[in-house]
Amino acid sequence: MQTKGLIMVNTGNGKGKTTAALGLAFRALGHGLPVCIIQFIKGKWKYGELNSAKRFEDLLEFHVVGQGFTWKSGDPEGDRRAAQEGWKLAKSIIEEGRHHLVVLDEFTYPLNYGMVDEEEAIAFLCRKPEALHVLITGRNAPASLLDIADMVTEMREVKHHLKAGIKAQKGIEF
Ligand code: ATP
Ligand code: MG
Repeated sequence: MQTKGLIMVNTGNGKGKTTAALGLAFRALGHGLPVCIIQFIKGKWKYGELNSAKRFEDLLEFHVVGQGFTWKSGDPEGDRRAAQEGWKLAKSIIEEGRHHLVVLDEFTYPLNYGMVDEEEAIAFLCRKPEALHVLITGRNAPASLLDIADMVTEMREVKHHLKAGIKAQKGIEF
């Protein structure tokens, strides 16, 4: 079987970027393949996936970076530090090449807010271990990332219940 480590991107304004990444991780885990997920979260922790991850702890490494950072918080230096530490961790895990798949969830945000240097990140991703698959999620993926990606999926919002006033619900949004 051919092994070609892909760079994949789930972007766009519609719902499903993170959940599709979790689905791909779930598929790999079913084959006994090790997966690492690093969530560069904006806002609150999503305990749903965090708790599920614990059930796969033999194969799934799960990191949450920058607890509760808000991108436009009153502590931009703290946010920047957290994002950079997360990126440093991501690089060491990617370089290690031990996993089948590394997911950088919401990684477009630190790129778009200039917390992680875009050029450096793109150059690094181009040098990733050959067999390793990397999946990046988040809105507004920068053009440079789309350029180097093997697969880009754009989630397009057709309708979202939030606009009808239905608030975030357990097991759906978090
Ligand atoms: P999910 O985690 O549900 O797959 P996502 O990763 O595509 O969503 P994010 O931009 O990460 O979307 O959104 C974070 C939160 O906002 C999630 O709780 C998600 O369900 C919700 N959300 C996603 N898309 C929309 C939308 N178009 N309108 C309102 N809320 C959304
Ligand atoms: Mg998401």
